[in-house]
This record gives sequence, C-alpha cells and structure tokens, in this order.
Amino acid sequence: MNLEQIESHDFQQWNAVADQAKTQIETRLFINGDYVDAVAGGRFSTINPANGEVVAEMSEGMPEDIDRAVASARAAFKSGCWSRLAPRDRMEILYSFARLIDEHAEELAVLETLDMGKPIADVVAQDIPACIETIRFMAEGIDKIEGSVTNTDNDSLHLVIREPLGVVGCIPPWNYPLLMATWKIAPALAAGNTVVLKPAEQSPMSGLRLAELFIRAGGPPGVFNVVNGMGETAGRALALHNDVAKISFTGSTEVGKLILQYAGQSNMKRVGLECGGKSPQIFMADLPDLEAAVAAAYNGVFANMGEVCSAGSRLLVERPIYDEFIELFIAEGQHAYAPGDPLNPETNMGPLVDRGSQQRVLGLIECGKREGATLHFGGDKPRGLEAGAYVNPTLFGQVDNNMTIARQEIFGPVASVIPFDGAVEAISIANDTIYGLAAGIWTRDINQALRMVKNIEAGVVWVNSYEDGDMTQPFGGYKQSGQARDKCLESLKSYTQSKSAWFRLTPE
Ligand code: NAD
Repeated sequence: MNLEQIESHDFQQWNAVADQAKTQIETRLFINGDYVDAVAGGRFSTINPANGEVVAEMSEGMPEDIDRAVASARAAFKSGCWSRLAPRDRMEILYSFARLIDEHAEELAVLETLDMGKPIADVVAQDIPACIETIRFMAEGIDKIEGSVTNTDNDSLHLVIREPLGVVGCIPPWNYPLLMATWKIAPALAAGNTVVLKPAEQSPMSGLRLAELFIRAGGPPGVFNVVNGMGETAGRALALHNDVAKISFTGSTEVGKLILQYAGQSNMKRVGLECGGKSPQIFMADLPDLEAAVAAAYNGVFANMGEVCSAGSRLLVERPIYDEFIELFIAEGQHAYAPGDPLNPETNMGPLVDRGSQQRVLGLIECGKREGATLHFGGDKPRGLEAGAYVNPTLFGQVDNNMTIARQEIFGPVASVIPFDGAVEAISIANDTIYGLAAGIWTRDINQALRMVKNIEAGVVWVNSYEDGDMTQPFGGYKQSGQARDKCLESLKSYTQSKSAWFRLTPE
C-alpha cells in the first residue's frame, strides 16, 4: 500500500500489518541481485525496543560476505551496466525506484517501527516521503552535474570530466535507518557508482527491502548490495576493503575517527563523515515569538526520542527571558510528547533504540542531577511501559556548559537550558564544544542574526526556526561533527571525481 492509502490507518490496522509483516521478514543478505545466506551461517537477533521481543534472526555478514558483496559491486561497476548507462536511463530507473518505495510504504514503515521503535506516524509523515524526495532529487541531478572546459592557450583544449568513483561502502546509523541509508545510496547510485550497504545492527530490516525494490525498478544485479552484520566486523571489513573507493559513514564521532584510520591503513579511500552533535539553540531576549521559540526548543530535542544528530540539546536562553522560557517550556513541553506504543499512530514518542541506550541516557540524567543542574521534569522511565526501553522527556535548567550533560551527546529526550548574558557570551558558549553540526538563533534583530551566523561554528544554522529546510540544503558538520554534506547537489558531486583531459593540438 502506498503513502496515501496508509495515512489513515489506525492502531488496530497497524497491529495487523505488523503481525503479517513479522511472518514475511527477509533475513538473508542481498548480494548480486539475490537473497543469500551468510557464508558462515551466523545470525543475530533484532529486537523490538517497544516490548523486548525478538522480531527476527538476521543473517550476520562477516568479512567473507563483505568480500563477496564488494566483488559483485566491483564487477557490476566494471561492466558499465550502471556506470555507463545513459544518464536519462539511470534517471528513469531511480524514478521507478522512488515510485516503488511509495507503493511499499506500508511494509517499509512497519519494519522501521518494529526495528527501532520510531513512531509509525513519523515514518509515514516524514521518513518515507523524505526518502522518495531524496531519490527523486538525486535522479534529477544526474545530468545537472557538469564538467568544464577551462581557458587555456590557443594550442590546447582542457576538459574536466566528472566520473563515478567505483564501489561505495555505505555505513548508516539506526536512528533514521531508511533515510540515512537513502542519503548515501541515492547520490552514490545517481552518480553511477555501485554500492554495498552495511546497515546498523540495531536496524537491519528495511535496507534489504530497499535493495530488492531497486532491482524491481530495473536496477542491474550487483549495483546495490546489502550485508548486515556488526560494525566491528562487517563494517570494519568494508571500511578496510581495498576495492572500495569511498566510505560514506554516518554515526558517532568515535567510529568516524576509526573509519579515517581504516582508510589510511588500506587504500586511502575517500571518506565522507556525518557524525555526532551537541547543537545549541540561542534564544535572545528580543526574539519575535516566545511561544514559537519554546515549541521549536522542545520539538528540537524531543522529536524522534531525541535520537537526532542535529537535536537542539543545548538551549541557551538570555537571562531576561530565562524564567518565562522555563515556565512556558514546562507548561507546553512537558506533555507535548507522551511515550507510548510506536505502532499507535497517535503516539509521538517511542522507546529508545535498545536497553543499552536507555541505561546510558538514564545514567547521564543522574550525572546531570549530581553535577547540580535543576531537574524540572522527567528524568525517569514512564510507568506501564517497563517492557520497553523508554525514557520520559526530560528538562534540566540552570545547566553550566561544563557539565557532562552539556558536553556529551546524550542521544535521548533530554533538554539542557543554559542561561547567558549577551550575544558575545552566547556565541562563546555555543562554540565551546567539539561538535559543530547545527545551531538555531532566535532574535528579531537581523544585524544580530547575521553577525551570529558569521561567528557560529556549525554547518547548518537556522534563524527563527529549527530543523527547517529542503533538498537544496547542504547538511553536515564543522569540527568533529564531520566533513561530508548530505542532500544538495554538493552531495551528489562528492560521489564523483574529476578527470583532467588535456589535449595538445597540432599547430595550425
Ligand atoms: P555508531 O557510530 O555506533 O554506528 C554507526 C554505524 O557504524 C553502524 O552501522 C555501525 O554498525 C557501524 N560501525 C560501528 N563500529 C564500526 C567500526 N569499527 N567499523 C565500521 N563500522 C562501524 O553510531 P550509532 O549509535 O549507530 O548512531 C548514533 C550516532 O550517529 C550519533 O552520534 C549521531 O549523532 C550520529 N548521527 C549523525 C548524523 C549526521 O548527519 N551528522 C545523522 C544521524 C546520526
């Protein structure tokens, strides 16, 4: 069923869809256009974090499976069946791929929710439409990326040609399994590369279906392969592989640094990194609309259970509006997100991805209390949902930027409000972090906003909004938030390389 047909599904219908989906889950690897078992036959469990139930036993890919997938992707690349296909033909296949994702939205949505606990309403309203839009945008861009002819002396002609890289290894995280995978595979495929996707072990199900749909859309076998497995084995083998031309990675800063090492230890492959964040939102006393600003503050840190790389987790509030800000946040934000069963379309907050995450987030909350922050609400597990990995939305006030909760990426629904005096202090606190993914600035003074945009160290800055944008927006970080840019034509270009062809002409 497509997106339009599932928009009005109720809880009962989604439960029925989930029961049906559970009987048909594909657990094998997807290599060279077919489902295959892992060579060593190992398996790992994927667990529904809403109730702790095992959803499926997935094939666990090992280095030998990565070898097989890379060999298949390399043979497909060399054959030219995809890389040399006329741009418009490649475009048509990607459009069909996007259409098939729409037609299979029901199944994809339920897999995503069972796998990582994301509210089904969010998958339907945001994740799947965004996947479709990404594929369409990258397909549209195929013949908009141009080489060039440079100015040379009269006896030369210089062409700069853009070519695909070869085999691209894609390693996404689990927080938006379909969308983060799509942000990688769509530009990689559009540029003519072939792909090996290694999904996160917490969310292994939907990537397999993506690859299958690509083949059904007319994509040649071997162009899009999927190997599930652990990061330290399958992911590492992919990143160390000598026949992989680029690794496109999204995940923690810690693992991002390992990926750079693997590139150095192997073939100096290109590395695109989208890593963690501890993004500030700065609320100046003259902001235009406190209610809208506070709503952006709680949505920016509670949506997707706070498991968002660009979550606005540090809320910097100018002292004159501090008390009012906190009061409004408590009044409006405390009940805006209610943990519940993510298969219920009324639910806007599911569990965290697993028990480990739940323990880590609760541990950081304890640390915030110990270090002297004021806990205004939350900080605990919701009653009645003990079977799942839930944490209540949490608000800390009077946070100092040196506290652990202001420095570490929590990746959970925990907001920290930090008071400040004046724009200079705000910028200094905002930039006092190893990260630099995103930032928000709230002020009615355009001069102030422009000055802050210039001074803030972040790849994405929103003024009087948060998490806004479209496909033209380069999305990526400064500092240890990474160096890649997703979405946008710059992303598509980063999956190509330039070739300089210099012609010496015979004298006239
Ligand atoms: P993670 O770094 O643990 O894992 C990410 C991926 O890397 C997974 O597929 C995992 O299997 C793989 N991996 C782990 N160890 C590996 C290794 N040694 N070699 C190769 N691959 C390995 O991150 P996570 O917990 O899945 O995701 C959360 C992190 O992702 C957060 O830090 C978040 O900020 C970040 N993130 C960033 C963006 C962005 O666009 N900047 C978007 C989403 C998430």
